Amino acid sequence: MGTRCGIGYDSHRLVPGGPLRLGGVSIPVPLSLTGHSDGDAVAHALTDAVLGAAAADDIGTLFPDSEPANRGRDSLDMLRQAVSRISDRGWLVVNADVTVIAEHPRLAPYRDAMRAALAGALGVDADAVSIKGKTNEGMGWIGRGEGIACIAVATIGRTDT
Ligand code: MG
Repeated sequence: MGTRCGIGYDSHRLVPGGPLRLGGVSIPVPLSLTGHSDGDAVAHALTDAVLGAAAADDIGTLFPDSEPANRGRDSLDMLRQAVSRISDRGWLVVNADVTVIAEHPRLAPYRDAMRAALAGALGVDADAVSIKGKTNEGMGWIGRGEGIACIAVATIGRTDT
């Protein structure tokens, strides 16, 4: 078959102090996501979706948090490296679809900027990247604003077809 799909999931804890780095965009709110890298859960979920589609390991294997070089790392760089890794195996990204589950902030004003940033890293046009924002209807840890979760799906195709 000439196409495959992969899924990725990530979540990070929200802490005081901005900006919030999400989808490769810095959102000017007084909150941020903790993590060994820049905490960009959207980029992390998408990186795992891309790698998963090609059965090419996962983000934790390629960029371990025990590695000092990954501290504070720009997560878009990890996404670019994942795309490069699957490219070496004869795959390119076709499209990506992302759902962000966050009680706040509202993501709609930043959605197009995220699509453009992620598309650049994925090597596709912005119209091949979808970002959807959901709340958790006030339920659980997401509803209490303790963190943000993200689910991403990526489709990849063979470069030789
Ligand atoms: Mg992560």
